[in-house]
Amino acid sequence: FRKSLTEVRGMKTVTLDGVEIELEANVASPKDLDDVFKNDGEGVGLYRTEFLYFDSSLLPPEDTQFEQYRDVVVAMTGRPVVIRTLDIGGDKKLDYLSIPEEQNPFLGYRAIRLCLDRQEIFKVQLRAILRASAFGQVRILFPMISSLEELRSAKAILEETKEDLRSLGVPFDESIQSGIMVEVPSAAILSDHFARETDFFSIGTNDLIQYAVAVDRGNEKLSHLYSQYHPAVLRLIKTVLDNGKAAGIRVGMCGESAGDPKLIPILLGMGLTEFSMNPSSILQARWILRNLRKGDLEEAALKALSLGTAEEVEEYCSRLLQTLN
Ligand code: PEP
Ligand code: MG
Repeated sequence: FRKSLTEVRGMKTVTLDGVEIELEANVASPKDLDDVFKNDGEGVGLYRTEFLYFDSSLLPPEDTQFEQYRDVVVAMTGRPVVIRTLDIGGDKKLDYLSIPEEQNPFLGYRAIRLCLDRQEIFKVQLRAILRASAFGQVRILFPMISSLEELRSAKAILEETKEDLRSLGVPFDESIQSGIMVEVPSAAILSDHFARETDFFSIGTNDLIQYAVAVDRGNEKLSHLYSQYHPAVLRLIKTVLDNGKAAGIRVGMCGESAGDPKLIPILLGMGLTEFSMNPSSILQARWILRNLRKGDLEEAALKALSLGTAEEVEEYCSRLLQTLN
């Protein structure tokens, strides 16, 4: 279907049976926006802000952050921009933050854990994001949430930060939404509880897979065990979609799986309607989605969920996709 991709430029992302889909882009800086526009991204579903911190030799000041976030928000002209708070640690280290060596960095002091511990860093970023929210439709996304207490603490700090801005008369979007990355199995399993306390979920399959199957996502020796087709991962995704739907909150996916042609039909069948991916995958995903009928895929998704191995799931998904060509 490669040849047909340019045909879908400028078209809506809607399935054959009329289900409207949001196809958004993952970005790391305002420099990525060209790619977003070239590929027709309908919003920014994941802004990985850590790259701003990597490109700097010190913690980036509030104004520097604000300007970058604002530039992205303004360029998107009212379309959603989901800004993820600092997600470092694991394989992503910052030299100027002296974080003690850990035996298991992926299970260690990272992302929201670091931000809740170093609140002065977190608050500077939240202020910058809130200020940028006055320029468009911003949503805040907290990474690596693994317990309700963490979500509550992050939200409390966000509220304090809003109060500070209010008292200074600094404008921001009072109705700004905040959500969580569901990328740790505990958050997926408890997603019924999380759904009552947050505005949206964004499923991060890159980490969700590694934590579900206990395989470091960067370990090449074990890459055969790290699979987006693992049925345990599919079941976690299904749980999150069902719990999000039951609570009436939006559920998106921003891990690599969201742009995987073989998984898209199954994800649609499970009820996913918001996909965020590398800009270069967007037109392909639109082409596929416009050739699918959600109603026909619900049963196929259940079938995939009933399988026992990643190999069987992958083969099943490949066959489904072939019926489209
Ligand atoms: C993920 O974990 O799926 C994700 C989107 O975040 P990152 O790849 O930045 O960890
Ligand atoms: Mg992640």
